[in-house]
Amino acid sequence: QTIGDCFDDTVARFPDHDALISRHQGLRYSWSTLQDAVDRAARALLALGVAKGDRVGIWSPNCAEWTITQFATAKLGAILVNINPSYRTHELEYALKQSGTSTLILQGAFKTSDYVATLAELVPELSEGTPAHVDSPVLPDLERVICLDAERALPGMYTWEGMLAYADEVPASRLAEVQAGLQFDEPINIQYTSGTTGAPKGATLSHHNILNNGFFVARTMGLSEADRMVIPVPLYHCFGMVMGNLGCMTHGAAMIYPGDGFDPHATLQSVAEERATALYGVPTMFIAELEHPEFETFDLSSLRTGVMAGSICPIEVMRRVIDQMHMEGVTICYGMTETSPVSLQTQTDAPLDKRVTTVGTIHPHLEVKLVSPDSGAVVPRGETGELCTRGYSVMLGYWNNEEATDKAIDSAGWMHTGDLATMDDEGYVAIVGRIKDMIIRGGENIYPREIEDFLYTHPAISDVQVIGVPDEKYGEEVMAWVKLSDGEALDEEALKAFCQGRIAHYKVPRYVKFVDEFPMTVTGKIQKFKMREEATHELG
Ligand code: ATP
Ligand code: MG
Repeated sequence: QTIGDCFDDTVARFPDHDALISRHQGLRYSWSTLQDAVDRAARALLALGVAKGDRVGIWSPNCAEWTITQFATAKLGAILVNINPSYRTHELEYALKQSGTSTLILQGAFKTSDYVATLAELVPELSEGTPAHVDSPVLPDLERVICLDAERALPGMYTWEGMLAYADEVPASRLAEVQAGLQFDEPINIQYTSGTTGAPKGATLSHHNILNNGFFVARTMGLSEADRMVIPVPLYHCFGMVMGNLGCMTHGAAMIYPGDGFDPHATLQSVAEERATALYGVPTMFIAELEHPEFETFDLSSLRTGVMAGSICPIEVMRRVIDQMHMEGVTICYGMTETSPVSLQTQTDAPLDKRVTTVGTIHPHLEVKLVSPDSGAVVPRGETGELCTRGYSVMLGYWNNEEATDKAIDSAGWMHTGDLATMDDEGYVAIVGRIKDMIIRGGENIYPREIEDFLYTHPAISDVQVIGVPDEKYGEEVMAWVKLSDGEALDEEALKAFCQGRIAHYKVPRYVKFVDEFPMTVTGKIQKFKMREEATHELG
């Protein structure tokens, strides 16, 4: 099935149920009014000349139009290109060129990002003329630009409303014809990775890839049309657009957006006021919610399930999410953009120790194996190896980058994830960390996660990240970046004393740095490569 056909099925089953609630915009749609909006946008894009296979970029924080565009492009077979909301000129130019984007939909501005001004720097032609055809020597593929913020739109841009007016030129039957001509295995999305380890990479994904993945993630949580899910994670990322939007859509659950950027207060408030049953987040978001000064005042009793994923989920945080946020059925997912994204997930009824210490078992219709990064041989159960996955969810490839694709996916179809993991006798997988983040100190392999989990048990510490920094004697040394809870005090000596006798001497951080924040991607992941750069520079 294609995404568009599946969407229409959901509309037919639950026309009057809540489909999409964008709280910061004050917009609410049922499945049937959402379908009207999606079909109108699809017909308008058709009228402007958008065809199957064309790349349509969307550059915006979370909003209803993002999702309307997602489903409208899916109905046309146009390839949606998700563009990182924090990009500036240089990165924007790269992404638009690399993907060959011909239609760009963008927000006016968001916090410190002025999208219109950034684009106008690259394409000054937009400041005059008409929107009918953009003619830019810098971005030769770019044909039209649609601005979501009518007040900020330049003369060379369509406004969203202006674009929608063209829908009347295309009859509904024409859209139905286009939709019927699509195949489930055709590319429908270029999703960029988070950029946790360097520059984001564009994974090309099909209807089949992401529709099925969204379905299975939600099925594991037992999602149905009775569920209401709060989605504070970016739609730009597969967490929002696949696990969130497609997970809800395939089961008829409501998608609730608490805001355009992550805000713990707005998220907690959305749960309470919308009586949400499910909540998504990366660990740093759940930590921010649990630590929020007014946490106790929100009624979260409607919550039952959700997903915590995206990076290592500290055991202590898992316990608090289950106990204090009522998310008895919270699941942990492991995945990556390149695999649509999820391949492992904990069942809601798995034994508690498995749910707090592992990322669960392999999803239906997928395979997993752990191999030695050196020899490529499968490692014995219990030993650490590189996680590899295979099956329907593996991307078609990196967009226009065969070399990188061949490096990531081997000839037998296995995706090499770059993550280290262990597997127990029952098939539960635990993530040890990224190969790139492993610390090798005097020949000893040290996994930052182990030290992070330990330091996390200190009551004054609210968040902690461990990295390796260059060292003349040992090759690498352990460094901890520590964020303290409000009103707590702790110094380096006390922290080291806390470690003495409790963890092996070579794991005790040689350096400790107290910080208020970590360098972070828009998806809320901590960029250890930036921490290493900064620390290496500081240590001289
Ligand atoms: P980039 O590939 O651009 O460096 P990224 O790998 O963070 O960024 P994503 O595709 O968003 O981009 O994230 C996938 C990665 O996130 C996985 O390879 C893994 O390292 C990490 N990850 C995802 N879920 C979990 C989890 N539950 N526990 C630990 N790590 C996780
Ligand atoms: Mg990655």
